[in-house]
Amino acid sequence: MSSTHTGIEWTDKTWNPTTGCDKISPGCLHCYAEALTQRFPKNFPNGFALSLHPERLEEPLRWRTPSRIFVNSMSDLFHKDVPLDFIRQVFSVIHSTPWHVYQILTKRHERLGDLASKLDFPENVWLGVSVENQKMFLSVVFYQQIDVLQFFLEIQDCQEQFCSFC
Ligand code: SF4
Repeated sequence: MSSTHTGIEWTDKTWNPTTGCDKISPGCLHCYAEALTQRFPKNFPNGFALSLHPERLEEPLRWRTPSRIFVNSMSDLFHKDVPLDFIRQVFSVIHSTPWHVYQILTKRHERLGDLASKLDFPENVWLGVSVENQKMFLSVVFYQQIDVLQFFLEIQDCQEQFCSFC
């Protein structure tokens, strides 16, 4: 999408250095991001296939008004095919723009855990993991050891509605 503004009440802008994803859990069934790619195919020439957009990495540097920025509303930053170096570049931009607050939400808590020790988590990140059932809830408890100031769980029940925002 060319517009960065959003109707999501808990954020001001979206920033999508990657788009596209693969479904990994029941909560992906009615993926909002996938639906948008189908509704606006001209905006997403690769459809819902995971795509890196390095040309978008510096966008937040040009946004001078302090904002809450939802990172990857159209993807999942911790998808297995997003290289560690690319995630580090995203974090570098976040470090460089302390006047913004970044909201990162992932369903890939296992990869997040695997990479945690290799990432320098910025202070201006709210990091969220989607939780769909008790088993997942228990598996993310160990994230308390991730060195990030703001960590939250998103409890999802999305079987019959568009949902996800990952
Ligand atoms: S809900 Fe999130 S993890 Fe699932 S397919 Fe959509 S973007 Fe990917």
